Amino acid sequence: MKKEICRKGSIIGLADDQSMAKGCTRAFHEQGTTMQQSEQLWHALEKEAVCAALQVSDDGLSTTESESRLSKYGYNRLPLPKKRAWYTRLGGHINNALIYIMLVASALTFLLGHHVDAFVIFLVIVVNTLIGYVQEGRAEKALEAIRGMMAPHASVLRDGKRAGVEADAIVPGDIVLLEAGDRIPVDLRLLHTRFLKIDEAALTGESVPVEKEAIAVPEQTPLAEQSDMAFSGTFVTSGQGLGVTVRTGAATELGRINEMLSDVMLLKTPLLQQMDTLAKRLTFIILGVAALLFVFAYYVRNYELVDAFMTVVGFAVAVVPEGLPAVMTIALAIGVHRMAQRKAIIRRLPAVETLGAVSVICSDKTGTLTCNEMTVRQLVTADFSVVVNGTGYAPNGTFEKDGFHMDPSSNEHTMEICQAALLCNDASLRQNGNSWQVNGDPMEGALVTLALKAGYDQDNSRKEVPRLDEIPFDAAHRFMATLHHDHEMARAFMVVKGAPEQILTMCDKARSMSGDRLIDIDFWTNQMEMLAAQGERVLALAVRDMPQGTMGLTFDDAMSGLTLLGFVGLIDPPRSEAIAAVRECRNAGIRVVMITGDHAATALAIARQLGLADNPKALTGKDLDSMSTEELQLTAREITVFARANPEHKLRLIRALQEDGAIIAMTGDGVNDAPALKQANVGVAMGNKGTEVAKEASEMVLADDNFASIAAAVREGRTVYDNLQKVIAWTLPTNVGEVLAIIVAVMFGLAMPLTPVQILWINMVTSVALGLVLAFEPTEPGTMQRPPRRIGDSIITPFMLWRIVFVSTMFMCATFGIYYHALSKGLPIEAAHTLVVNVIVVLEIFYLFSVRYVHGTSLTLRGVIGTPPVLIGVIVITAAQLFLTYMPLLQNAFGTHSVKLEDGILVILIGIVFLLIIECEKRIRQIYLGRQVENFLKTVKSTE
Ligand code: ATP
Repeated sequence: MKKEICRKGSIIGLADDQSMAKGCTRAFHEQGTTMQQSEQLWHALEKEAVCAALQVSDDGLSTTESESRLSKYGYNRLPLPKKRAWYTRLGGHINNALIYIMLVASALTFLLGHHVDAFVIFLVIVVNTLIGYVQEGRAEKALEAIRGMMAPHASVLRDGKRAGVEADAIVPGDIVLLEAGDRIPVDLRLLHTRFLKIDEAALTGESVPVEKEAIAVPEQTPLAEQSDMAFSGTFVTSGQGLGVTVRTGAATELGRINEMLSDVMLLKTPLLQQMDTLAKRLTFIILGVAALLFVFAYYVRNYELVDAFMTVVGFAVAVVPEGLPAVMTIALAIGVHRMAQRKAIIRRLPAVETLGAVSVICSDKTGTLTCNEMTVRQLVTADFSVVVNGTGYAPNGTFEKDGFHMDPSSNEHTMEICQAALLCNDASLRQNGNSWQVNGDPMEGALVTLALKAGYDQDNSRKEVPRLDEIPFDAAHRFMATLHHDHEMARAFMVVKGAPEQILTMCDKARSMSGDRLIDIDFWTNQMEMLAAQGERVLALAVRDMPQGTMGLTFDDAMSGLTLLGFVGLIDPPRSEAIAAVRECRNAGIRVVMITGDHAATALAIARQLGLADNPKALTGKDLDSMSTEELQLTAREITVFARANPEHKLRLIRALQEDGAIIAMTGDGVNDAPALKQANVGVAMGNKGTEVAKEASEMVLADDNFASIAAAVREGRTVYDNLQKVIAWTLPTNVGEVLAIIVAVMFGLAMPLTPVQILWINMVTSVALGLVLAFEPTEPGTMQRPPRRIGDSIITPFMLWRIVFVSTMFMCATFGIYYHALSKGLPIEAAHTLVVNVIVVLEIFYLFSVRYVHGTSLTLRGVIGTPPVLIGVIVITAAQLFLTYMPLLQNAFGTHSVKLEDGILVILIGIVFLLIIECEKRIRQIYLGRQVENFLKTVKSTE
């Protein structure tokens, strides 16, 4: 782009119209840090006047100037949306029907004269609300930190060179380069466009992309018709452009409507919403059952009014899982945080849950499954083949022909191929100490390396035959063309490179030592297949002489009459971590499907190296076009590689797989991938090579573009879901156990084994502290060896219901058992209550160890030792129980009493017996489930 500016003379130029420029400059400088507000002027000014006003030359700003403007005008940021005030957030925690029930209970208890109880109930509500408030704050902070990791980038001209900068460092006067997929970071007055189209829906609501041109429009032109402007927050859908920054930050049109377009991450996921609805329904049920219980206790069992009421309070307190929502939120936030550590950045929270259910991962090949570090291995011409030695981008390596060293400069044809590879190329190489790095596309970088190995100099050789025009590469037409001329303009020629099938249709001759010959398509197709079968990416290079004085290229120029120079074979080895990740996915019952723009044979060879399937099969975009939806659905089950696929093919394929019941994670990077990314259950954009459009359309962004990170995110997704399930599986039986104890006591006219405040202590103090521990649980062994979860399934599975019934019954038996045991020993009622509270908490602790491994036994060294959060939780709770039992202050508040050591030991023994019973149940289940998993994996393998 920069070259173009220089070549075509002063595209930007400097102001001829000084008066106009002065007016503009004033507008620019007078506004100080709130920046230029003269929005009426920029679109109506000629580009030269705009640049003069902003004091910027063809070379863009200098680094020092941009720094000084940054300190003067500030960062290009929109003001953050107003944070909810602390009291509003706190209010959100209090404004909850369950809390109201408790507050009413506390007030009535007070009125009935149980002042201490009333105070304790109130205090516990306050403590719980505060815990919820603090946890929510922490979760929000964790998510905010992740948002910060997604800072958008942009390309600007600084000191005459293209430079990548963070979008918030762009200052007024900066020249910004635009290409398809970019999100425009500031308001720009366009200086140059080439087929530039921009989607301005974010600003104008118009969903059809608008064409842009760098020609000034009248002053009164409304925003939506200002075709020489590009506005912050909109997207480039196609073409290229160059514009000068006229407004940044809050002064942009987007800033004026004061809208943050970046997704605000909500803390609500389908699962949390499900839990909310459940809680609301539960409230009514609780009220109903409480009323019935009250009537029954008072009229049938002849309780005193106060006792009947206190029983109902105990019931309400017991049944409400107060800590559950806060613990679930924190579990999700921890999951998001862990995924970010594994380079998978979640943009939408529900994706965390969906990731755990993914059954098919559709992944790009280049750069995701492979290293994207390309090296040219072979050159094939009509007469001979050449092997190129050397690794990486370092231009050190020799050429070999028929097994013998060859000096490339002695072979004109080889030199012509290498020159074409250098000219039809936008990349350049940079030497950094001993290492060589590519500036641009890695494949083009490999072609530059090839030319340097042949003795060309990247800058001089390009200057000798400068580029006049180009047709940029596009995945839709799969080639790129450039027009060159020598210095005297005596010779003009076009160089084309691209996918061989495409280039062969454009050539009628092929270069050979004995002069150009008619092209032999069969010969070249064979050559292409031979190279591709070795896993090499094949690229064809061709040239065409153009009439003297040709200044521009059209598609028609490129579509016929080319002379094929030869093929280049490039290797791009699979990522070693991707091989391991693919294995892990297959073990986890997840199919990995490669979708690539590359040739089917190349893709199949790479698929074999990666171990995508035992016997991978490929389908091409063309095959897909000729299939009906039903046919595609059937075929898609067996296919591992979709080659020469374009974004529309991706979309059709995803729909077919989804209709077949698959839950899909799909990667994408281009602007045209957006529909498929949106359609996928989890759209995954590439953080490095992905366009902003793709990132915007996706649920997750991979910071390292690596397939292994998707597998890691799936593993974390499963872990989060498991942990949520564990939190529920652990919390509910405790509540139900207590409720059962109360109901049974009322029904059979038994004494209440524990008081409402004691229930509250268990639910709010021990449950929250211990439940939180489960949110931190690491991945369980075997997590990636079981089939994916089915998406529609309720988190409360039939198994969990059974567990709730089973465990809560044991809780109830233990409660009454120890209670009557204590009474029969003649202990005071307070001591009996204390033993009951302790037995419930001990059961909770042992149950915690059991629940940590839902799918495996807990009776292992790892299971018994636990993790630091588990140990801290257990130590804290044990200390709390000791205080509750022996500290006079707490004894008074909670009606507890000291117990003897032997009773304490009995309590622990009950816990051990309980754990053993649960482990036996688990073992029986495992044997049964193991068979089911085996059958599932067998079916997956057979469909491959
Ligand atoms: P993936 O979809 O796995 O990332 P890909 O990079 O091969 O694979 P595309 O970028 O769509 O997919 O490229 C399709 C084909 O177009 C390539 O196989 C290659 O033959 C050709 N091609 C790619 N990049 C260029 C380029 N810069 N110039 C010319 N041809 C190219």
